[in-house]
Amino acid sequence: MPEGPEVECVKKALQKLIGEKIKNIELTEHSQKYKKYKGKNNQFKYFKGKTIKKIVRYGKYFVWEFDTDKVILNHLGMTGMWYLSNKIEIKNATHPKLFIKTMSGIIAVFNDIRNFGQLRIFNNLSEIKEYPPIKNLGIDGLALPFPTELFIRKLNEKKYANKQIANVLLEQKLVAGIGNIYKSESLHLSKIDPRKTVKELSLEEKKRLAKAISQTLQKAVKSGGSSINTYRMPSGEEGRGQLWHQVYRKQYCANCNSKIKKIVQNKRTTYFCPKCQN
Ligand SMILES: [Zn+2]
Repeated sequence: MPEGPEVECVKKALQKLIGEKIKNIELTEHSQKYKKYKGKNNQFKYFKGKTIKKIVRYGKYFVWEFDTDKVILNHLGMTGMWYLSNKIEIKNATHPKLFIKTMSGIIAVFNDIRNFGQLRIFNNLSEIKEYPPIKNLGIDGLALPFPTELFIRKLNEKKYANKQIANVLLEQKLVAGIGNIYKSESLHLSKIDPRKTVKELSLEEKKRLAKAISQTLQKAVKSGGSSINTYRMPSGEEGRGQLWHQVYRKQYCANCNSKIKKIVQNKRTTYFCPKCQN
């Protein structure tokens, strides 16, 4: 599943579309097999002739803004991806859902293999900002500088005290943009045992964690994201994040060569080094 850094990389690539006027936009024939898209082509056709003004990221969501009030909320889900090309044939677009062609000839295709992605039209930006998953987003993990004090203040809220830190990191209400990969990597970098509850963490550990989250997510963006499963950049290329992972899906710790432990917490897998993280 794309996490914050992968979504940020896609957002950066999509900036190529800013200022482009839409010549054609339509839901594909393939998309009509799915309830969430079925019969909605006219709603999307509304954007024909409109100019793309902004593509902004909120956590793992994109908001597409045009020279009109209506906006599109877009989530990549598990396997959603935008591919950009100057050719109609895009070899990675095996499960295309939405097709856009701009006046200057750029083709953008929203591809989604497992179909957990979202493309939803809202009447205006304020409606989106009131939409609970957007309204309740926590600190943007990619914010620079990372707001360490705010992170610690939120982490100290009673509701987190007895929860294991690995599970808390996945709550988008605390920090938006951390998924399974960067959860394991941030905890390894900060040398924290993922099974510790928040109340067992020292102030020093919380500070280290804040720093590690920021460093890990920023490094991932610089690497073009991590191509573990289906994630590719809009150019079709793989990201390089997986090349520096220290624990995620690794056998041995990159730091001390101990055997990596794989555990399940709250139905999600965590990788950690029992020697470095305690
Ligand atoms: Zn180690």
